[in-house]
Amino acid sequence: MAPVHNWQLGREMAYPYAPAYPERQFAFVFNINRCIACQSCTMACKSTWTFSKGQEHMWWANVETKPYGGYPQSWDVKILEQLERANPGGQVWRGSPGNDPQAPYGRFEGQTIFEAVERLPEPGSSRVLGYLPADDEWNSPNIWEDNPVGQRGAPRTYDAEGVSLPTHKTWFFYLARICNHCSYPACLAACPRGAIYKRPEDGIVLIDQEQCRGYRKCVEACPYKKSIYRGNTRTSEKCVACYPRIEGRDPESNGQPLETRCMAACIGQIRMQGLVKMSRDGTWAEDRYNPLYYLVHVAKVALPLYPQFGTEPNGYYIPPRWVPVDYLHQMFGPGVEQALERYARPDRELLAVLQLFRRSNRIIFRYELQEGPKLYETTIAGHPFTVYNDTVIAYGRDGDEIFRTQVDEPLHVRPPQHQNSI
Ligand code: SF4
Ligand code: SF4
Repeated sequence: MAPVHNWQLGREMAYPYAPAYPERQFAFVFNINRCIACQSCTMACKSTWTFSKGQEHMWWANVETKPYGGYPQSWDVKILEQLERANPGGQVWRGSPGNDPQAPYGRFEGQTIFEAVERLPEPGSSRVLGYLPADDEWNSPNIWEDNPVGQRGAPRTYDAEGVSLPTHKTWFFYLARICNHCSYPACLAACPRGAIYKRPEDGIVLIDQEQCRGYRKCVEACPYKKSIYRGNTRTSEKCVACYPRIEGRDPESNGQPLETRCMAACIGQIRMQGLVKMSRDGTWAEDRYNPLYYLVHVAKVALPLYPQFGTEPNGYYIPPRWVPVDYLHQMFGPGVEQALERYARPDRELLAVLQLFRRSNRIIFRYELQEGPKLYETTIAGHPFTVYNDTVIAYGRDGDEIFRTQVDEPLHVRPPQHQNSI
């Protein structure tokens, strides 16, 4: 095991390989508040990559209803329980979120999946703490769809009196998931064949199908369960981050990097994907006007999914406003209160950056703001709040303008002669 710095945990941690960081890192932000579980993303991925014989149970992109749903079933509860058993009562964070880029969420004092494995009765038998899901746990990707948590002690029914913010008494939310193309991938760490690699140019994690012998060590190790075994080829497969699109090799891209298929298909406009600049020490290089850098490191509204697992996932989520904070804290770490507060009352820049989601399929490398006139004043949770019609301009890799859009969306009224266009 080599010591590596995990900035999401605010500390060094043990990992089987010495640190090596890509020039840029594939990363994404999903705004849970906007997801409508239409599953367009899921089907876009399925129809592109996993429509063949032997892949019937394989959903590289999925959307599950939390807290009960999961693909495979109970994946997160199971690994959380394993960690708790390995380190009873010790899976805690210390300190509080601040401005230290080496520890923006405080310090995680518990054990990661790479560390907790040493506490197993037979240390050395595995490199990563994990488990292999049973075959039937992969069968129902959308199990418990739309099932809410009831009020304490009540059955799982909707609240007849209705609900209001900040926390709903009955709640659920949709968690959209793909492989996180982690900075310290558990799948890669566990593979005895060395068949899994992380690309130096964009940090995408791939399985070399020629090298893989289907031992399923990656399936067992990935805490997010995003490496999946295929019986008819006897190999494991996983999300490839639509790498031909990222490389600008899609016929529609004109050589420019395009976002993945699941991002491009998103009806709810919850998804934004990018390629963030990395420093030599594995932290994100300062890139103030990159929208992902802004959302994660400046506005701090987007948080990593289960950072305590230790893989440094590159998927970030704007947490849902109506869900009890202790549940969100477990899922996204200590930055939750700050993120919710910021999202509920966005400042001028955040409101403008939120308009960048899904106006184009091209990857945005930089944005610029142009201030516009005041639209109106109001109050949110007793605080004054002013909305301006600012313009936000998105630029591509080569500095060309991709699009510009405004905070106030233009209203289009269908002319009477086209009232029914169907
Ligand atoms: S999410 Fe899982 S499969 Fe994807 S890179 Fe991380 S450990 Fe590997
Ligand atoms: S396409 Fe977008 S809105 Fe629809 S389920 Fe997927 S993430 Fe949610």
